[in-house]
Amino acid sequence: MLFAQDTGRHAMAVLSWVAGLVVLVGAAEVDQALIRREMEEAIASLDSARGYGAYEKSVDVPEQIVLAYEWAQGRAPDPVEFHTLLGMWPELGLKPSDLLSFAIRGKEPAITWEMCAAFIARKTARPQPSAQTKALAAALLNTPLGKDEGAGPAKSSAGRVAVKSEPGVAYNTYFGYLHAHSELSDGEGSPDQAYTSARAAGLDFFALTDHGELVLVWPWEDKWGQEQSAADRADAPGEFAALWGFEWSSPLYGHATVVNSEDYTDCVSSSRLVQLYDWLADRPDAFGRFNHPGYFDYAIADLLHFRLFDQAVNQMVGVECWNGDDGFDRYYYAGNWEGPESYLDRANLNGWRVGALGGEDNHRADWGRMGRFRTGVLATELTREGIAEAYMSRRFYATEDDNLCLDFRCGGYPMGSMLDGEARVFEVRAYDRDGEEFEEVRLYRNGQLIEARTVTGGDVVEVFEDASTDDCYYYVIVKQVDDSDGNGRKDEAISSPIWFGDLDGAKSGCYSPLFKEQPASAGWSNLAVLLLAAGALVTTTRTHRTDRTDRTDRTYKNRME
Ligand SMILES: [Zn+2]
Ligand SMILES: [Zn+2]
Repeated sequence: MLFAQDTGRHAMAVLSWVAGLVVLVGAAEVDQALIRREMEEAIASLDSARGYGAYEKSVDVPEQIVLAYEWAQGRAPDPVEFHTLLGMWPELGLKPSDLLSFAIRGKEPAITWEMCAAFIARKTARPQPSAQTKALAAALLNTPLGKDEGAGPAKSSAGRVAVKSEPGVAYNTYFGYLHAHSELSDGEGSPDQAYTSARAAGLDFFALTDHGELVLVWPWEDKWGQEQSAADRADAPGEFAALWGFEWSSPLYGHATVVNSEDYTDCVSSSRLVQLYDWLADRPDAFGRFNHPGYFDYAIADLLHFRLFDQAVNQMVGVECWNGDDGFDRYYYAGNWEGPESYLDRANLNGWRVGALGGEDNHRADWGRMGRFRTGVLATELTREGIAEAYMSRRFYATEDDNLCLDFRCGGYPMGSMLDGEARVFEVRAYDRDGEEFEEVRLYRNGQLIEARTVTGGDVVEVFEDASTDDCYYYVIVKQVDDSDGNGRKDEAISSPIWFGDLDGAKSGCYSPLFKEQPASAGWSNLAVLLLAAGALVTTTRTHRTDRTDRTDRTYKNRME
């Protein structure tokens, strides 16, 4: 489930402007109350026309998009802007006034009081579409966007930061996810209800990630601030980590969620995928994740089919292997764009370094209760900082069982590590807090199954070796004996990869410079140590944090350099 399915396509009301707008000029300070009153009158007038069937049929949506830009910006939209808004109408259930807000701010990241004042001062009446408007709309409608629109040249893989967690650390396992909606965009329920529900449902961590396109509306609606303050109220270090984020939701390029940024963007002001990646790269504490791949593969290739953009490789940390109540059948085993690879593998083979995760993507006020799918995170403490650091380090996995613990290591380095030169001896521990048993552990290299091993019991430790010295990545899938979600396939969990090699993009289609450092002296590459550390995995002790990080910039600084 992606968006709340409203009843039918929303009518696009005529942008019928009310007469008598007060002209606001020359004031040293804008009169916010006055501007708000004027704009709200205009908005009410625009939106009141929604829902009339006859009216809906009479509206020429392409023409109205062009007109809104001519009206508010004095220019026509470019083809990507035009097709983005056209696609957003049904997908996000836009109101006519939303269109006006997008047109007023154009490429700016937020609509300000000054923009509204200038708009009111400049325009006292809505212009009528001219013959030129109609011709332009027709031309834009007939401008096809190529599958590669905005893709740019293929990127090399230089200049990345490698991720390497410390070896031999015993982590706690926490369950949650970072993709959910509320009434701040197109979901149901308040932000406070969302965080409260998620915690009550037993999640350890959670983030609201409302659609950026609907968070950014009018200056008096501080929806982003509402999301942040709801998260602040819900956050309880050591007990429940409440993060915030937004979903960049392009009907042309697909969706991605960004968490741990001070501000936000959307698919109008950052209309191309590469602009989202640039935006992300300017905010190194933020991290992103690819959502429900395969959903938006029409006008332009969905997520540009994971074309590599170097600037975002470090920060795009994962791809959804489950979304809502769709599990691995859809997002790992079946759906893909062209070849037999899973989306997880397609992205990694293209040079991204993404792990396996998922999100409920709630739109129906059922946070934490939609099903049993979870993202499991290996962290040392249950705080925002701890969760953010674990995501940036790719220490997470996707699981169809809500309390399946999975630890996958090489030489003591946990999943998500980027290694070079370590012996390829892999340790896997899978444990279920309900005692549900496992029947299989499988090791994959570059998405290819290397070994499937039959196992028994509810607490499994297995060691695998691989003689390959190629540049490649490994992950494991563990399978249980039961089918808790009733989808006809037994529950599984997919680890995030461990990457190997002194790689560059030219070699084996893969990634790039990896770690050159030697592992810490306390080696962790023998089974005895594995068992000792693995035992600590299931500890229920949670570190209580009293020294809250200074969050003057309101992001949870991860401690990874
Ligand atoms: Zn989405
Ligand atoms: Zn979503």
